[in-house]
Amino acid sequence: MSSMKYYSTRDNAAAKDCVTAAEAIKKGLAPDGGLYVPAGVPQLTHGDMDALCGMTYAQRASYILSMYLDDYDKDTLAADCAAAYGEDRFPGGAAPIHKIDDTDYSLELWHGPTSAFKDMALQIMPRLLSRALKMTGEEKTAYILVATSGDTGKAALEGYRDVDGVKMAVFYPDEGVSPMQKRQMATQEGSNVYVTAVEGNFDDAQSGVKAIFGNGDLAKKAEENGFFFSSANSINWGRLVPQIVYYISAYCDLVKTGEIQNGDEIIVCVPTGNFGNIFAAYLAKEMGLPIGRLICASNANNVLTDFIDTGVYDRTREFHKTMSPSMDILISSNLERLLHWLGAPTAELMAKLNTEGKYTAPADVMEKLRDVFSGYWLGEEDTAAVIRDTFRQDKYLVDPHTAVGLGCLRRYRAESGDKRKAVLASTASPYKFAADVCAALDVSADENDIAGLLNTLSAATGTEIPAPLAAVLTREIRFRDVVKPADMAKVPFEH
Ligand SMILES: *Cc1c(COP(=O)(O)O)cnc(C)c1O
Repeated sequence: MSSMKYYSTRDNAAAKDCVTAAEAIKKGLAPDGGLYVPAGVPQLTHGDMDALCGMTYAQRASYILSMYLDDYDKDTLAADCAAAYGEDRFPGGAAPIHKIDDTDYSLELWHGPTSAFKDMALQIMPRLLSRALKMTGEEKTAYILVATSGDTGKAALEGYRDVDGVKMAVFYPDEGVSPMQKRQMATQEGSNVYVTAVEGNFDDAQSGVKAIFGNGDLAKKAEENGFFFSSANSINWGRLVPQIVYYISAYCDLVKTGEIQNGDEIIVCVPTGNFGNIFAAYLAKEMGLPIGRLICASNANNVLTDFIDTGVYDRTREFHKTMSPSMDILISSNLERLLHWLGAPTAELMAKLNTEGKYTAPADVMEKLRDVFSGYWLGEEDTAAVIRDTFRQDKYLVDPHTAVGLGCLRRYRAESGDKRKAVLASTASPYKFAADVCAALDVSADENDIAGLLNTLSAATGTEIPAPLAAVLTREIRFRDVVKPADMAKVPFEH
C-alpha cells in the first residue's frame, strides 16, 4: 500500500487534500492552481548510499523513484527505468561526469535522444503517466499541453510520441528558440503530437497553457470530447522526481572514482530557468545528500538573483532574449514549491504575482533560503567569454547555458573563497546552440545554415556532432503554424 501522499502548494495545512503519486502525475497541476509536493522527503541512509553506489544509472533511478512513487509496482518501475535509460537511448551512459579542473565537475545531462537535460526526465515520465492512467482506472485520453522555451518541447515530443492513451500539443515562442531547436520540433514524427509557434515570448506561451489548465469550462468541454488536460512541464511532479536521481548518481560516481570521500560536502551549481532542476537538487539535499550550497545561475533575465538578494520577486522588468533561451524566463514556476517548503504563504504570494507582478517573501523564509542558495547571473559578453576561455584553457566545449552556470560558479568561488568540490549541471549539448558557440569562439559561420554550422563547429573544435542532431537535418518539416496567445485554447479541440 502507498504511504507517500502529495498535496498542493496552495492548500492550507489543515485542509490538505492528499492524492497518490499516480494521481499527482496524472493531474499535473493541482485543482487550485498549485503544484503537487510530497508530504515528506524520504531519507537516504548510509546503507542506501552504499547500495546506490554499486548500481547502474537505471537501477539508481528505480531505487530513488520507488522511494517517492511508492504506489507504483517496484518491478514495473525497474523495467521502465531500464528501458528509459538504456544504452540505445543514452549511448555511453545517462549522466557521465567530465572533470573540468581540480575542483569543478561537469555533470553532462545531454547524452539522450534530444541532446538536452530534459531527456533525463522525459524519457521516463511518459511511462509513469501511462502506468498512472491504468492504476487510476482512467479511460479518457490524457491531452498533454506543453509550453516550451525550446528544450522541453522536443524532449516531451520524443518521449510521448505514439504512447497509447496520450495526445500532446507543444507551444513554443515564435522568436524565442534557436534554429536547431525549431527544426527539431518542426520535424517531429508521431501520430499523436502537434506543434505550433506562439506569437510572444516564453512567458506568453506558459501563461497561455496555465490559463487553459485553470479554466473550468475548458475542462468540461474536454471531458465531453473524451479527454482531460495534463502537463509535461516541470510543474508536474513526474518531471521533477527523475531529476533528483542524477545528483545522487553524480555523488556516487565521484565517490567511486575517488574524487571525494563518502560524506564530503559538495557544491551544486545549476543554470536555472523554471527552477525545476535546482529544486530537484534541493530535494536531494533534503534527502540527506551532502550538498553544502546550491548556486542558482541565471542569465540577463536575473529575476531569481534579485529575489535571492532582496526577497522581492519582481517580474515587471524588461525581458531579454539571450543565447541561453531555455533560461529566458521571468516566472520561475517551481520556486513556488521551495517557498511552500520553507513555510511561505504561497497562495497569497502567487495571487500577488498574478495581479501586481511582484511579491515580497517573509524575512524568515528568505533567511532559510539563503542558508542553502546563492544567486549569481552572467551577461551575454561574459557568457561568450566563458565559452571561449573554457575551450582554450580547459579544452572543454560548453553550451551557453552551461557557460552561464560555470561563470556563476566561478564568481561564487571568487566572492566566498569556498573551495569544496562542485558539480555543475551541464544542461545542453553545445551543438544545439552552434551559432552562438561558433561566434563565442570567433569561428565564422552562416547562422542560418544549420548543417554548415554543425560541421564548422565540429571541424573547429575536434568534437563530434551528436547523432540525434545530425539526424534532424534530413527530416521533412511537418509543422509550420503560428498562433496568437488568445487562440491557444482552441488547439486541443482542433488538433
Ligand atoms: C530547461 C533548461 C534549463 C532550465 O532548467 P529549469 O529546470 O527550467 O530551471 C537550463 N538549461 C537548459 C539547456 C534547459 O533546457
